[in-house]
This record gives sequence, structure tokens and C-alpha cells, in this order.
Amino acid sequence: LIIQIRYEVSLMKEVSAAGIQQILQNQRTYFATQETKSLTFRMEQLKQLKAGIKKREHEVIDALALDLGKSELESYSTEIGILYEEINFTIKHLKSWAKPKKVKTPVTHVGSKGFIIPEPYGTVLIMAPWNYPFQLALSPLIGAIAAGNTAIIKPSELTPNVSSLLSTLLQKLYLPSYVSAVEGGVHTSQALLEERFDYIFFTGSPAVGKVVMEAASRHLTPVTLELGGKSPVIVHEDANIPLAAKRIVFGKFMNAGQTCIAPDYLLVHSKIKASLIEAIKEVIQAFYGPNPIESPAYSKIVNERHYNRLSGYLKEGMVIYGGERNDSKQKIAPTLIERVKLDSPVMTEEIFGPIFPVLEYTSLEEAIELIHSRPKPLALYVFTENKNTADEVTGRISFGGGCINDTLMHIATPHLPFGGVGESGMGNYHGKASFDTFSHRKSVLKQTNRFDFSFRYPSAKNGLQRV
Ligand code: NAD
Repeated sequence: LIIQIRYEVSLMKEVSAAGIQQILQNQRTYFATQETKSLTFRMEQLKQLKAGIKKREHEVIDALALDLGKSELESYSTEIGILYEEINFTIKHLKSWAKPKKVKTPVTHVGSKGFIIPEPYGTVLIMAPWNYPFQLALSPLIGAIAAGNTAIIKPSELTPNVSSLLSTLLQKLYLPSYVSAVEGGVHTSQALLEERFDYIFFTGSPAVGKVVMEAASRHLTPVTLELGGKSPVIVHEDANIPLAAKRIVFGKFMNAGQTCIAPDYLLVHSKIKASLIEAIKEVIQAFYGPNPIESPAYSKIVNERHYNRLSGYLKEGMVIYGGERNDSKQKIAPTLIERVKLDSPVMTEEIFGPIFPVLEYTSLEEAIELIHSRPKPLALYVFTENKNTADEVTGRISFGGGCINDTLMHIATPHLPFGGVGESGMGNYHGKASFDTFSHRKSVLKQTNRFDFSFRYPSAKNGLQRV
């Protein structure tokens, strides 16, 4: 099977600009037939998507193992199972989400009725990153289908096995005039961005997010930008240390730290710093064994460029745990570093890997000020047993989303919209938020013909005087 997937990758062909225009034109024509707007049709496509993934679960797991060295457990829970949950939730609620909503009208509009009708934008572009390459391409697609759009998906070129699999899967499930994957590198992304879409949903880095928004502005295309940044984790003096350690290690080292909402750096109260670090070391060993780079449960770094970038960070502080690397496997062990300078790259760039700078504070105010002095994070985590401390942190600091006494878990519930703020992104999705993201809210007023007030009209007979 692995040989077969590799063979497919070698066959992967980039689509030319003319090819992209043709797909887009076909999708516009298909969208105009109105077929994608039928509720039964949308439900059917979502069911097909779930069945299609189910049929190829093993291929997904193999492709993720080849591209990222992901374990089967991690692939299932973070790339496959999460999609099933999202599809089930969407199917369950779609009828009520899609229904036109009646709203009140003011006295000036007596006799009339107001409606908000959710309508699909049309043909949307979904651009995906490489870190959860399967899930982050298909999760937005669920929202796009639910809302009644057609879609072009651009998978990440850095995970070619998953990219190829996505293309094959979507070809089997849908006509290209409805949903199509366009594979290729940066210049394919650029060629796509030249075209006019009705909506662009981008997941990736803040730097490319700016490129996307600039391109979208040329056509006044609305965008959702799911970006990244440095997500802090605060562990206060009254935290439950064993639980905090377990949940931090879970969030930081899953997928070898290549998670957009992974804790990026640790802010720990000086009173508990030593005990928390000891607890974190124990949990790392319990999760990944004494030699994590040999553990099949522990992912590799996606490519050489990122491996070298991360290796460079190791020189920017004192390694207090981990630091082992394996060049041929492109693996870096879970690593804790101290004495990092706040203006050094490891503390100014998104780490996006298994290196965890540890900073200490003596008053909560200090921790809050440090976070305030930086761009608004995508995620923030605070560990404390005190409600006032949690309220102060979540109330005062602006961030995309996060957890009190946990990490990552806010992303895995369809009841919480997921997205960034400021430099970490704009817009959000998951559950109803996905449906809303891919729908225009069309406002319609239905006027009564039973009576008509003449005072609203000009009257030549009465000059400027109103009657
Ligand atoms: P990236 O921005 O480099 O690439 C994402 C997509 O943009 C790819 O499809 C790529 O082809 C395209 N692209 C790259 N350079 C381009 C250019 N110059 N012009 C046009 N298109 C271009 O991001 P990545 O490295 O794949 O992913 C890592 C980043 O994504 C991190 O910052 C991470 O935090 C973020 N991320 C965010 C979320 C979220 O949900 N908010 C999820 C995963 C990853």
C-alpha cells in the first residue's frame, strides 16, 4: 500500500492556470444550476464524505505516517475521528441552521415581515496547511458543503502523500464541477489566488495570511484566516501540578509540537517552577519512554528546513531536558529550555515544534504584561485552582480561544467557534460557526399589500408638505 501511495505521488501533476480557470468555470456553471442548495443534496454529500473517509481510513493513516510519522492513535483521534464528529453534528443540525429565520420589524414597518435567509456564497477556495493536512482540508469543506457551496481545495505541498490521497478521495466522491482538489506548490496557490472566488478560507501562517488577504482584496472576496502565533501557557502557584504537567505535555508534544494551538512557551510561577518541571519530565517519559525519538508514538518534523530551523532554537537557551536529535529521522526529542532572551527568535517566532521555553514570573501581573506586549495569541491556557485568577486571565487578555486547566481541548467541541484574533486570524468555524462562515445572511423584508401608508411617498400635489 505504501508503495502504491508513493507511486501516486510521483504521478501528482500540478494544475496549470488554464486548468484552474476551467475548473472554476465549471464550478460556477454547476453552482448556477441551484442543485447544491437543496438540503437533501447537501445531507447526501456529507454522508458520502463520511463513508468515503471510512473506506480509506487505513490509507489516511499510512499517508500521515509517511508525511509526518504520525502514530495510528494520533492520526485517528486528531485527523479522522474529529471529522466524523463534525459531520455527524452538522447533519444533525443542518435543517435548523439552513431554515430562514423570521425576525421582528419595527412599528414603522407595521404589516411587514423580516427574514434572514442563509445562502451559499458560491464557489469557495479552501487552502490547507501541512500539520494536520487531512483534517484541516476537510473540516472547512464540511461547512462549505453544508452551506451549499462548490469548493476547490488546495492541500499543502509539504505533505505530498496526504495531498495525493485527498485528490483521489475527492475525485471518487464528487464531480470536479462540485468539489475538486488542486494539488501543487506555492505557485499553484498563487495562481489560485489570482482568480475571483466567492469566499476564501485559509489556514496557515500569518505571513501567507497577509498575501491571501491582499489577493482577496483585489476581488473584494471575503476571507476567513485561520493563522498561528505564540500561544502561552500560564501555570499559577495554586495549580494542580500533576494534572497541569500531564495536560501540558499532551498539548505541547502531540504531533511533535507541530500544532497551531500547541502551548508555545511556559510562564510558570517561581514558587512551583521546580516541581512543575520535574512533573513535566516524568510525564514525557511516561508518554514517550526514555528515548522519545525512537518512539513510534512520537512524530517527526515535517521537512529538513523546519528541522534545521528548530535545531537552531536549541542554541538560544540552556537545554534543561531533552535536546536529542536524529538527523536521518528528522526527529527532535521533547525539549525544555531556559534562559531564553525575549527578543531572540525562539521567543519572537512561532516555534511550531517540540521545544518548550520556560519562563518564570512572581506576580500574575508580570505574566499578563508579557503577553500583552506581544501579538494576540491564537490560544491561551491557564492552570489555576482559583476562579478569580482564571477570570482575570481570560477576561483581561485577548486571544482566539483556549482552556482553563487544559490544553487543545477547546478545538474539539463543535459548540465552540474556533479561530484567532488580531495577528492570529479572523473569522471562525466548527459546528454552526462553519455553516455561518460559508453562508451569506440575506435579509429580506416581505411587505403587506393589505394597506399602504401614503405619508412615506412624496406628493407633487402637496409640494414638500407631508400629509
Ligand atoms: P503556510 O502559510 O506556509 O502554507 C499554507 C498554504 O499556503 C499552503 O497551501 C501553501 O501552498 C500556501 N502558500 C505558501 N506560501 C505561499 C505564498 N507565498 N503565496 C500563496 N500561497 C502560499 O503554512 P504552513 O507552514 O503550511 O502551516 C503552518 C502555519 O499554519 C503555522 O503558523 C500554524 O500556526 C498555522 N496553522 C493554523 C491553524 C489554525 O487553525 N489557526 C491550523 C494549522 C496551522
